[in-house]
Amino acid sequence: MTRPIPIPTFTDNLCYLQPCGGDRALVVDPGDAAVVLDALAKRQRRVEAILLTHQHWDHVAGAAELRSQSRCQVIGVDRSLIPACDHVTSDGQTLTLGDLRMTVIATPGHTRASVCYLVRSNVGDEPGVVYTGDTLFVSGCGRLLECDAATMWESLQRLAALPAETLVFCGHDYALENCEFAVATAPADRRFRDRLAQVERAVEYGQPTVPSTIAQERAANIFLRANDPHVKEALGMANASPQEVLAELRRRKDSFAT
Ligand SMILES: [Zn+2]
Repeated sequence: MTRPIPIPTFTDNLCYLQPCGGDRALVVDPGDAAVVLDALAKRQRRVEAILLTHQHWDHVAGAAELRSQSRCQVIGVDRSLIPACDHVTSDGQTLTLGDLRMTVIATPGHTRASVCYLVRSNVGDEPGVVYTGDTLFVSGCGRLLECDAATMWESLQRLAALPAETLVFCGHDYALENCEFAVATAPADRRFRDRLAQVERAVEYGQPTVPSTIAQERAANIFLRANDPHVKEALGMANASPQEVLAELRRRKDSFAT
């Protein structure tokens, strides 16, 4: 399948065009219709469907205008939260969109109704890409705005169980800050230090830090490693549950300043 095209919007949001055959593309989390329409025109692509990961304005604000301009369907989680939705998804649902196959993964945590979209080719078994919105970031996870840490932990586990080579396309680029947080929290961990060095190099050379892979997230995302004895020890929580460790990591990250 053709790789997604990231469309930076606002300060650090990432919206995506996912080519899905011919001149068609899926649009993921269009916070700003004008920016997306411009990107579509430049690439001479038309919208097949819009995918929304959750209801926050910086992910959905452009959806209604894009829909009226391109007469496409809007796929999302809850019409009471996102009135622009034509098609309300549910966990495990699979839809064929152009020459792609999209599967919905319910991932409550950041919000109650957050979902991720796993997108693969209609033919073949290649691992594909996952759009994670504000649930899983490169080396981070979203804030717990409507759910507790246990709910987020369960959702992160579902994402971590995807094939290792799956590419992770998230809703914001916070990679550098997240890696700095991991090293500040567990400085003895080699995998966090190596990942920070990698991300710093990418930033220095103006290269993108998104996407990562599920394998990279399993290794160097401190939130996914809340059950790891090294991380627990670094926090002084050797006997705590991963849910308690995740809650503490999220608390510390909320007030972390670089
Ligand atoms: Zn959000």
